Amino acid sequence: MNTILLVEDNANNASLLEDVFSYDDIPARLAYVASGEEAPRLAVSIQPVLILMDLRLPGIDGLETTEILKRNPLTRDIPVWAITAYAMPGDEEKARAAGCEEYFAKPLSMRRLGDRLRDFLQALEKTESREYAST
Ligand code: MN
Repeated sequence: MNTILLVEDNANNASLLEDVFSYDDIPARLAYVASGEEAPRLAVSIQPVLILMDLRLPGIDGLETTEILKRNPLTRDIPVWAITAYAMPGDEEKARAAGCEEYFAKPLSMRRLGDRLRDFLQALEKTESREYAST
């Protein structure tokens, strides 16, 4: 089963996301890390198919963490979706400039996020089966 890595310092937000995965039937395992410092090493070792990145993190923030991930050949191809609780003007542009492919501002529509996650995983599965068929 594919793993999605959540980088989020707020345990309540993390458990909301966990609920989306368990109740909405998202066919992936959710791994969770609470700081940007720990995220790059964990991403290298577990190779998630997607990273959900809270932008406001203590220490290294989500933008910087994304930049670190995008500089590392071992993690740069993993898509990063930004999630932010306190959206400020220009945040989306900054997130995209740092390398985030998608941007979700809170209050998060869990249904929308769940739908996007399902679409993403479905597209991934198709790509993987195509690659398998062509080898
Ligand atoms: Mn936060």
